[in-house]
Amino acid sequence: MDKLKAYDTPFYLYDLDLLNASLSACKTQADRFGYHVHYAMKANTNDMVLREIVKAGFGADCVSGNEVKKAFQSGFDPKAIVFAGVGKSDKEITDALEIGIGRFNVESVQELEVLNELAAKYNAIAEVNIRINPNVKSYTHANITTGLNENKFGVSAEDIQEIIQLTENLKHIKLGGLHFHIGSQITRMEAFKNLCLRVNEINENCKQYGWKPDVLNLGGGLGIDYVNPKDNPHADFQLYFETINGLLEADQDQEIHFELGRSLVGQCGQLITKVLYEKLGKTKDFLIVDAGMTELMRPALYQAQHFIENLSSEAAEQNYDVVGPICESTDCFGKEMPLPKSKRGDLLAIYSAGAYGESMANAYNLRAQNPSAYIINGKVVRP
Ligand SMILES: *Cc1c(COP(=O)(O)O)cnc(C)c1O
Repeated sequence: MDKLKAYDTPFYLYDLDLLNASLSACKTQADRFGYHVHYAMKANTNDMVLREIVKAGFGADCVSGNEVKKAFQSGFDPKAIVFAGVGKSDKEITDALEIGIGRFNVESVQELEVLNELAAKYNAIAEVNIRINPNVKSYTHANITTGLNENKFGVSAEDIQEIIQLTENLKHIKLGGLHFHIGSQITRMEAFKNLCLRVNEINENCKQYGWKPDVLNLGGGLGIDYVNPKDNPHADFQLYFETINGLLEADQDQEIHFELGRSLVGQCGQLITKVLYEKLGKTKDFLIVDAGMTELMRPALYQAQHFIENLSSEAAEQNYDVVGPICESTDCFGKEMPLPKSKRGDLLAIYSAGAYGESMANAYNLRAQNPSAYIINGKVVRP
């Protein structure tokens, strides 16, 4: 705590011990079933965080050319890098071909044709998974639902037969497997159960069409506990993988892949911020803090809730709207949040900021970012 006071706020505090606990819990459970996990880079690309994930032996799931490059530079095995995204540019595709990544998760027929042309120039064979939009509900916020017909992602399952035929003439494409990703912050196992049933059906159809996918990639989306992060410091990987193993009907020679982001890194990060002002309003009391939607955009983007703790005060609680300094009314971390009576200079910890916090940070209002701090072997350090 004294250490934290010495640093300029706001900053991210990453508990690498907690990260490693989460990585090892995931790995242990995935290994029970022989599952392969790629870390979804977009959740967090902090160098220190990535270093632990590489060490733990995960692959990387990327959604932009720069993420592919970053994954490669960070030491992920190129063959364990997959590249998804509805709008891959020619430059991004060629960069990925040059690196020699393992798989392209292709999201449209036209992309397949472009990839074939670009791979021909490189005299390369691009291995692809076809991303299927399974039209499965994910029971999460509409803005982070990706697997419904109305969403822009993937191709319809009905188009697969045509795609199989088409790729027979695309000499620089090797049709590998199937890819799915239905959304994010999914906490109801029902969503994953329904996904498994759809995957079984589509996998069966593919075999009937004369093509057996070598990989079934079920994407990511496993949620974390934003309400009680202290009680649940990592996701329930056991329940997740057991649920899938119970329902998925794959052959022995089909590899099962996952792309987890939030569930691996979400709980290891906090956003540490200082109270600038306590403003007692007419109908509400505000705590104005020095972090804003520029550091943690989730509340403004998805009405997300984060648990907040006052690290400096244990006074009696009252309700505050905790707001940032950015000139937007959505720059609010929470309304009517019970917190100890707070004062100027108090430090607050906004929990569960390890995923989609720093990676979504931006410079709106010409904001600058302070260096992050880390907890390593129980000690706070800032390299
Ligand atoms: C964002 C994303 C993921 C990771 O989602 P999480 O909810 O963070 O696990 C996985 N795959 C794809 C294709 C994605 O776009």
